[in-house]
Amino acid sequence: MSGPIQQPDAECEDERLEGIEAREGRRAQVGGLAVTRVLPTKGRRTVGAWCFTDLIGPQDALNPDPLEVGPHPHIGLSTVTWLLEGEALHSDSLGTEQLIRPGQLNLMTAGNGIAHAELAAEPPFRGVQLWIAQPEATRHGGSRFEHLAELPVVTVGQAEGTVLVGSLAGAASDATVDTPLIGADLRLRAGRTVLPLDPAFEHAVAPVDGKVKVGPEVVEPGWLAMVPQGIEELPLEATDAGARVMLIGGEPLGERVQMWWNFVARDKDEITVAWRAWQQRTDRFGTVPSQLEPIEAPRPPWVPDEN
Ligand code: MN
Repeated sequence: MSGPIQQPDAECEDERLEGIEAREGRRAQVGGLAVTRVLPTKGRRTVGAWCFTDLIGPQDALNPDPLEVGPHPHIGLSTVTWLLEGEALHSDSLGTEQLIRPGQLNLMTAGNGIAHAELAAEPPFRGVQLWIAQPEATRHGGSRFEHLAELPVVTVGQAEGTVLVGSLAGAASDATVDTPLIGADLRLRAGRTVLPLDPAFEHAVAPVDGKVKVGPEVVEPGWLAMVPQGIEELPLEATDAGARVMLIGGEPLGERVQMWWNFVARDKDEITVAWRAWQQRTDRFGTVPSQLEPIEAPRPPWVPDEN
């Protein structure tokens, strides 16, 4: 006798998990620091509204590179700063001066324009820098800065997670976001954890310590596992050594972003206007309370040299 299917169809579930893809990041330099950029990745600019993920460090503890990123502008994005080791001083053109330590979140939203600087107060420095693309509704608006000294911690199976933005397994962060998003730092003990996900979201998992099996794909630090929409339960499996991963996700942005240098926009003309405003030091970006030298923007490749 036929009837409603009580158990999820194992074959369908496996097929869905086959949509998970592993991508290797690439090495880059930011402010004298070696970083691994796992997003954007080939053929993919965004995961939800997340449009940029850099893993910074680990460094040589005896000879740490200095983190000194002088004043520079942003438009159209929120920056998420998450430290694993060390301390950093954030300053911005809203007048903010904020020390950040591991376990705390700095969330800076640019809107039409902001400028900021970062200085390592306590090296060696290790962390994750992420950007969130702002949607059309807010990207031309004002800027803001939030420091969250306390964040919710949640236990799921063999994982303990700190929720940076959005919510996971019932724990919600107070951070302000412009689109439905999740960002979490998960510490995994050995074994298998089934993570509850919002199936309306697309997700990605970026290991920062140890390797982890995400569905059928094994990824290690420097790699990104991309998880398509429609998955409600994501199996994560760590070895005996355990693992630590960043989970990001959100509703697909539905807008094609154009990124260049520190600007997130929709086309090159918008970026050219922002670039000129920074070159000419107009008041669009304001003044940063920092001793560091402002960073000169490179010339966008599509702007002809006027000299
Ligand atoms: Mn920046």
